[in-house]
Order: sequence, then C-alpha cells, then structure tokens
Amino acid sequence: MDLFGGIEGGGTKFVCAVGTGPDDIRDEIRYPTTTPEVSIGKAIAFFQDFADLRGVGIACFGPLDPRPGSPTFGYVTTTPKPGWAHTEFAGTVERALEVPVGFDTDVNAAALAEYRWGTAKGLDSCLYLTVGTGIGGGAVVEGHVLHGLMHPEMGHVRIPHDLAADPYPGHCTYHGDCLEGLACGPAIEARWGTPGEMLPPDHPAWSLEAHYIALGLVAYIVTLSPQRIILGGGVMEQAQLFPMIRAAVQEQLNGYIQSPLLMDRIDDYIVPPALGHRAGVLGAIALGQMVG
Ligand code: ZN
Repeated sequence: MDLFGGIEGGGTKFVCAVGTGPDDIRDEIRYPTTTPEVSIGKAIAFFQDFADLRGVGIACFGPLDPRPGSPTFGYVTTTPKPGWAHTEFAGTVERALEVPVGFDTDVNAAALAEYRWGTAKGLDSCLYLTVGTGIGGGAVVEGHVLHGLMHPEMGHVRIPHDLAADPYPGHCTYHGDCLEGLACGPAIEARWGTPGEMLPPDHPAWSLEAHYIALGLVAYIVTLSPQRIILGGGVMEQAQLFPMIRAAVQEQLNGYIQSPLLMDRIDDYIVPPALGHRAGVLGAIALGQMVG
C-alpha cells in the first residue's frame, strides 16, 4: 500500500509519522519544537529513510497560508512564536523530499482526521476546537476543509464578558477578552493564580470556563451549522467540562435550533476526539493523501 508522511508542527512539540491511517502507522518520532531550521530539518531527515513516500502532509500552528497558488502558500505567516514568522515550511519539505506536500492548520487537519476516520466518519461536516495554550478551530463543511479567505480563526470570536462577574481583562495580545483571551489555559492560570490542572473539578473556574466555551460554540453552531463538534486540547482533559458545556450550550440556544441532536442527544453532538491526541498527526497524513 502507498505510504504517506505526516508532520504535526505544534507550538511545543513536533510529531512525524509514516503510514496510511490510524490502524497502520509504520514509524513515528516526536521532539520539542525549537527553531524552524532544526525542527523542519529533523522531520526531513526522518522521512528520508522512506524511499517510497507518495506524499507528505503538514498540520501546523498558524496563522499560515494554506491556499495553493498563493505566493506565500506553505508559509507560517504572522505567528507571534519567536523565530517562526514568515517561515517557508511546505516548500522546504517539498524540495528536500521531492514529493507533493499538503499544508493546513493543525485544527483543520484534526477536523479532517475525525471526519475521515474518527467520530465524524459518515457525516458531511464537523468542527474541531482545541482548547489549550491557545484556542483554535477547524472545520470540514460538506466534505471540504474550510479555508475561505485564509483559514478560520475561531478562537478569536468576541463573546459577552461580564466584567463584574469576571474582572480578568483577558490574555489575547490582539483583542484582550476574545474567547481565547478569556478561556485558554494561560487565562485560567492568570485568573485564578493556579494552573488549571491543579484546580479541583468542583472549582468555580470550570463553570466559568464552560460558560465561555459554550458562548463560542453557540456562535459556531448558528453560523456554520456543523453536524458534530469535537473538543480537544489540554484544557478539555478536564472531563467534567463536557456535561457543563453541553448544558450551557442548550441554555444559551434556548430551544431555538430544533435539532434532536441539540435537544435530546447533545451527548452525541459535543464530544471528545475519537482519535485522541493523534488527531493532529493523522490529519497531517490525510493531508498528504489529498495531494499524493
Ligand atoms: Zn484574540
């Protein structure tokens, strides 16, 4: 069977894998993200051991340019991550390995992997939101990964912020109290003075967190109408958040959208990733399969 490579380029770690899908990973490496030269160079060296790769996909943190034909296609663009702004990623890999390279955001790739192999298999659409160091979302809409103008930046939707109830000004350097600014992992730590993973499950941090995430999800539900929402990332390892978020989404929608999934089966609608932590690198392999 034809082999494909996948690179999950994350803000803190890189994962590279070779295979054809979730049940067939032939080899995998992971290492901390450092400079672009070293991080991308290690990925290239790993794939050079496989002479018969048909394509490589890259699922990367953004912002980035995923539009084939654009002069800056394959670049990480304006990221605040030191040393990575305006880094040519896809072209560097393509020239070194001489294989077609697909390139998209880590969250679009995770949405694609869940659509192809995971919890959204058999559906036409899904939305993947990661809540961790930052908040980012990707979507598959009627079978296509959503790009539009560039790619979605779902973490930066503006949501109502009751300053009397929550005086924390927000963590986003661009917007202050956008969704990411209020609900990313660093915002939880800054607001409560303790990292989220140290807070007990019944701490008031979590009902506030669920409230904010639900406000974001309701905005996506009424604009994109996804058939399933998948929540991943480090903060979502707090399993108590899932029932709280589902209840808050129902309360905020207030019965407006008459879908049985939202009314009676919301446990099947807002779900963790079936592919777990592997959604990103598997999505990268799926991106490689789309171009290879
Ligand atoms: Zn923002």
